[in-house]
Amino acid sequence: MKITAVETIYLKSGIRVHAGPVQYLWVRLHTDEGLSGLGETYPFPLAAQAVIHSALAGVLLGRDPSAIDKLWADMLVAVSYSGWAGAEMRAISAVDLALWDLKGKALNAPVYQLLGGASRQSIRTYNTCYDRVDFLTEPVKLAQELYDSGIRAMKIWPFDSIARQNSGQFITPEQIRAGIEPLGRIRDEFGGRMEVAMEFHGYWNLPSAIRIAHALEPLAPLWLEEMLPQDNLAAYRELKDATRTPLCLSERLMTRWGFRELLANGAASIVMPDLCWCGGLSEAKKIASAAETHYLPVAPHNCGGPLLHMASLHLAANLTNLHILESVRRHYSDEYAGLLTQLVTPVNGEFPLPPGPGLGAELDPAVLRREDVFVERSSL
Ligand SMILES: [Mg+2]
Repeated sequence: MKITAVETIYLKSGIRVHAGPVQYLWVRLHTDEGLSGLGETYPFPLAAQAVIHSALAGVLLGRDPSAIDKLWADMLVAVSYSGWAGAEMRAISAVDLALWDLKGKALNAPVYQLLGGASRQSIRTYNTCYDRVDFLTEPVKLAQELYDSGIRAMKIWPFDSIARQNSGQFITPEQIRAGIEPLGRIRDEFGGRMEVAMEFHGYWNLPSAIRIAHALEPLAPLWLEEMLPQDNLAAYRELKDATRTPLCLSERLMTRWGFRELLANGAASIVMPDLCWCGGLSEAKKIASAAETHYLPVAPHNCGGPLLHMASLHLAANLTNLHILESVRRHYSDEYAGLLTQLVTPVNGEFPLPPGPGLGAELDPAVLRREDVFVERSSL
């Protein structure tokens, strides 16, 4: 089999994820045998699209798509002038997902089977609370709805608005009291029946992060996620040494080499790669294996588009050191509608194994007919 065309599909109006629309890029690899593979990345699709057509298409066209590891290595060489951790790695991530999808279709198997098979029959998940119910004003109502649907863990970020007020440079005792209140209310109502992870989006400096971490300790959050920016892992190690709460890092690190430094320095208790950013399924599997050598679990970042959701389910089905998979009920029950031909939603709070072949979903044909969709193609 030979790759005959590399197609990018850019949805200009975006999908409403997080607080507003995020623009997506899908990649389709076409072959001389009529099979195609679908990949995805985000945000800034035009940057990844430029990398795909100007640097990666030349590597891919005419090649056998089954040689995923060698194609990945050659794509890295094609972009590794200096500092490839950006649009270059997002582009490689999207192509890598498409290569796995294609391999699964060629072998008529779901991707998790190709990764080494299912390590579980259902996948534990936590809900990231970009939700119609506001975790700041109605945390107990939100937790109750999730609990009633079988979900036993959730993630909130009540310190973000304070960080924006203070540019993350200081925090007062009164602001700390306000920031911990939603978690306190959930603990009062649910005790230990609901796990709550705290997300900080990299907004804080080190002393403020330590102050917040200390204040949260009595409330036993599941983890503290990205309290600092990701560029100084020695500072993260200081934060780890200052708190007994586990740190979760980081969707912002890319490739096995980016995570190598984190694993060597010991700051993370939970490892969180994003398949559409870190280098794809290939790279996430390698990162997870490296984490396993440090006896660390993986919680894949799954807060993007619909194909990331499907691919993350395949990885989560396979990983022996899975901690828990992120998901967003507003995404899978609402915002992803009409984009893919299949979508997997939780049953009694856990995801079933995802379907195949490949990643188990195609772009809905209606997407390609939309006026806000732009397709570009490189071919043999
Ligand atoms: Mg995060």
